Amino acid sequence: MLSIRPRALSSVLSALVFGIAFEAFATEPPHIALDIIYDEQARRVHIEAKTTLSESASRFYLSKASTIETLDPAPGITIKESYDAHVFSLRNGEQEATIRLTYSLSLPRPNQLGSSAESSGRIDWSGTSTNAFLPGSRLWYPFFNQPSTVRLRVKTVAELRAIAPGLPITHMEEDGYAVSIFDMSKPILGVDLMIGHWLVQQKVMTGMEEKILLQTYFNEENADIAKEYLDLCERYILFYEKLIGPYPYSSFTVVSSPHPAGLGMPSLTYISEKILKYPFIKNQSLPHEIVHNWWGNGVRVDYELGNWSEGLTTYMADYWQVALTSENAAKEMRYGWLRNYASISDEDEESLQAFTSRHHTASSTIGYGKAAMVFHMLRNTIGNKPFINCLREFWLEYQYKSASFHDIRDTCQNHTNSDLTLFFDTWISTVDAPTLDTNLTQSSPTNHQLTVNQNGNWAYPLELEISGDSNKIKLTKMIRGEETTFVIPIGATKSTEIKLDPNFNVWRHLYATELVGTIRDFIAAKKPIYIQLTSNIQNSADIISTYFLEDMIQNKYGPNFTNPKKQPTIIVADITNITEHLNTSDNANEINHLMPLSGTDLVMASTYIGGTATLLIGISESISAKDLSILISRARHYGRYSWLKVVKSGRTEKGKWSIREKIFSY
Ligand SMILES: [Zn+2]
Repeated sequence: MLSIRPRALSSVLSALVFGIAFEAFATEPPHIALDIIYDEQARRVHIEAKTTLSESASRFYLSKASTIETLDPAPGITIKESYDAHVFSLRNGEQEATIRLTYSLSLPRPNQLGSSAESSGRIDWSGTSTNAFLPGSRLWYPFFNQPSTVRLRVKTVAELRAIAPGLPITHMEEDGYAVSIFDMSKPILGVDLMIGHWLVQQKVMTGMEEKILLQTYFNEENADIAKEYLDLCERYILFYEKLIGPYPYSSFTVVSSPHPAGLGMPSLTYISEKILKYPFIKNQSLPHEIVHNWWGNGVRVDYELGNWSEGLTTYMADYWQVALTSENAAKEMRYGWLRNYASISDEDEESLQAFTSRHHTASSTIGYGKAAMVFHMLRNTIGNKPFINCLREFWLEYQYKSASFHDIRDTCQNHTNSDLTLFFDTWISTVDAPTLDTNLTQSSPTNHQLTVNQNGNWAYPLELEISGDSNKIKLTKMIRGEETTFVIPIGATKSTEIKLDPNFNVWRHLYATELVGTIRDFIAAKKPIYIQLTSNIQNSADIISTYFLEDMIQNKYGPNFTNPKKQPTIIVADITNITEHLNTSDNANEINHLMPLSGTDLVMASTYIGGTATLLIGISESISAKDLSILISRARHYGRYSWLKVVKSGRTEKGKWSIREKIFSY
């Protein structure tokens, strides 16, 4: 499935993927001047590049796909070939050498590329007569293994515009051509260049330290939301300047992309033109990409101890914005992280330390979800004010440098008396998560001792709700180690009920009762069991395989199958027969939300029956195989819901089961 979430840092990470190790960051970054002409008919870029190799920046790489046309003789430089690049190095003993070269590159058409790059969320280079994309990871310009300052002059036909990170200096049109100049005076690692047919709108805002140029480069269909985007950018930048510190660049640009995937880079984000209009892009993805200018681009990631920037950005953007609207929505997002964790397999789980970038569902569950929750627990451990002060100091201390989880730990340690070593050690380098259990002992009628047990040494503040015969108390206790015991002031009581972490503030395994079935569980289910009861459509298994599941159905059984291993099971039946199965499910008391089922073409409910995750699919006797394929492929868009039904008019109703709290009774 195509990823539509914009990815930040893709150029930085791609550089890693392309097999280049980072060299130490020099104090004086190398500077590159590029003069570019895009020939849109031939899909060819002609480039003149000038840069200087020095002892601290002694080597650069240029894609082997480039045809070098002229090269100023530079005796201080050697050129070697690696598998994907011409490698230009400063000769031993030389202190400095300036090089000027011209070369050209042919861009493939987008459909000439394999789909693998795009399906992984990365956009590869491509060119057409109306747009072009050149990612830094393709080494299309002299690429040093360290951040560089860059000046870019791009010439296209007048109908096209070029955009790149950095400050736009000028844009001129003359004799049917357009020339744009960009200045990246803040060092940048991996320059992505975009060319397209856009309408440009601008707004100048007053930032904390300087004026900031806001821009939209939108295709025509999105022109009417350009102003809304400019206003949103201003609002978010003001918000995060206040929270963290001055925005680190002189501009911010939102560019509409013809590609299905999106990405972020310093001072710019490239978002699919198909999804710009959706609220989740405006409310979560946009602030996410803006916050990356502080975390990930402003402070770069030292990958030695894992990528902290996605988690911190998710926490401060996606989560923070939702938390501003309501605590309920925030709780739902935290639950969502834990729910995602419940659906990844043990062998797919990696530690935060091992996370570099999102490459499948399991890695984003850890690198985004777990990391965001770790920042949430850190905030709950040291307090809101110290947490924000820590982030401000971290920003002041590390902007334009790289930093690791340990640098965050050491900065936060300045703002709290509690020792954060155990907290970071247990959350960053380990896999698995706490499974929480309790035990209550009573030494006298009024003295109750509570023990909280977990399967490891994780440290975090744990919220408890304790109800006695006549009163109810809420406590927060710091948990450290496998067993934590404390006295609970519940007074004299015959029976006690205890809830642990009822608001999902801890990265932990959910209890079985807390697991709300979702349709998505089945989209990604591995080797599901398929049981077909009565249904008019005989090839419904093939239709469901093709239009709904990621895996093919291989295990088809009849109604008497017992499923001893409790593998996820899909049961297909006529609408009229689906109610009896719903009645035996864990969510039987909530099925009134789905009723009545008469007049329904399709109903789907993800639930548990006898401890087995089960997707019930009810199909109306009056629909055809073709109708089913359309309805079932549409159902994929409702993955986060527990159930949906499509009524005859085509209207879709959907909902989620409520979470049943785990209660320990004594
Ligand atoms: Zn991100």
